[in-house]
Amino acid sequence: MPARILLIEDNPDNMDLMAYLLEAYGHVTLAARDGETGVEIARRELPDLIICDIQLPKLDGYGVIRELRRHTDLRNIPVVAVTAFAMAGDCDALLAAGFDGYLSKPIEPESFVGQLERFLPDYLRSNSLGFDFDRPEDAQHERPEHS
Ligand code: MN
Repeated sequence: MPARILLIEDNPDNMDLMAYLLEAYGHVTLAARDGETGVEIARRELPDLIICDIQLPKLDGYGVIRELRRHTDLRNIPVVAVTAFAMAGDCDALLAAGFDGYLSKPIEPESFVGQLERFLPDYLRSNSLGFDFDRPEDAQHERPEHS
């Protein structure tokens, strides 16, 4: 079963790259370009995983995680911060704010999906879709059909 992953990111290049990589491994992505829209989509769609930028219009990443953790139905969804300033102090602040983990920008295409899938249960990972990370050509395959 593919995972439904919400991307909250205002930089269009980063958004496109993240969506491309995740979809290449069979996942379904939802996109929000500001924090308020991100929270709205999260409440409506209950995604399996949320990837969240920190510097965002309307509501920044810290505001987003505060909102997500306030709602009981969203509290258990893993949220990973993607941030340009992942230095030691910021990492602690991100985890203290309630993020489950963080990745630093720029995104590394070779490891991005694998790093994120650690936050998904086994049955939602791409290897359960028949993909194998050791075969890079798998990223070229079309998404397998699932009922
Ligand atoms: Mn940003």
